[in-house]
Amino acid sequence: MTGSLLDLKNIHVSYGHAEVLHGISLSMEPGSIVTVIGANGAGKTTLLNAAMGVVPSTGTILYDGKPVPRSVEARVAAGMCLVPEKRELFGSMSVEDNIELGGFLRTAAERNETRGELYDRFPRLAERRKQLAGTLSGGERQMLALARALMSRPRLLLLDEPSLGLAPKIVADILRIVAELRTTGVSVLLVEQNARAALEIADFGYLVELGEVKRTGPAGELAVDPALMESYLGVG
Ligand code: ATP
Repeated sequence: MTGSLLDLKNIHVSYGHAEVLHGISLSMEPGSIVTVIGANGAGKTTLLNAAMGVVPSTGTILYDGKPVPRSVEARVAAGMCLVPEKRELFGSMSVEDNIELGGFLRTAAERNETRGELYDRFPRLAERRKQLAGTLSGGERQMLALARALMSRPRLLLLDEPSLGLAPKIVADILRIVAELRTTGVSVLLVEQNARAALEIADFGYLVELGEVKRTGPAGELAVDPALMESYLGVG
């Protein structure tokens, strides 16, 4: 297949009378990791939510070269899956029941196959499959949110701040798993405030400021850009 997996063109989003995305365009190739970086309030989460159809937007969204399905459920069925910043797990349900919910649109055979792969990829979750999700550590919770998303067998994972609130060692573990997803044919649109870590695993990056794209380029170039380093990468 050639062409983009996801194409956002001139996306505008408003909350009430306040416009927070002012015409963002973004394109990603199949099999790639694209990261959206930027400060608090830049509009990164809003952009993911618009792509998933969780918030209404104007502009054009093409998925696999065609207009994206209208409803969130149809987007999930088409292979898109959002992992929200707050993870939104069911705390009073077990790890395995949370994972199972991710596969609600898949057949039993697909769920069986994916479940096995997931427990191989996340041995910590396999050990804790009977434990209540609400009692997991922050890192385990993020892994569970990822595993639940993968149970839907996505082609495109929309990941919102997977590193939020986690210790550096755990962040590295999570991002390593995200980077490995590329080898399984899953593409990832990764929103991160941790710009340095995100650019390390991404192919391409977009810097968003106040609802507009300010810079784009191969991740390796952005990671050494002097202006970006000063503002976002924590080095002067
Ligand atoms: P952060 O990294 O802090 O999560 P972000 O880049 O993801 O920030 P958004 O969460 O997309 O930014 O927010 C963009 C702007 O839209 C902010 O000014 C925010 O206050 C505003 N906003 C977000 N959600 C709503 C909402 N439901 N109602 C009104 N304003 C909102």
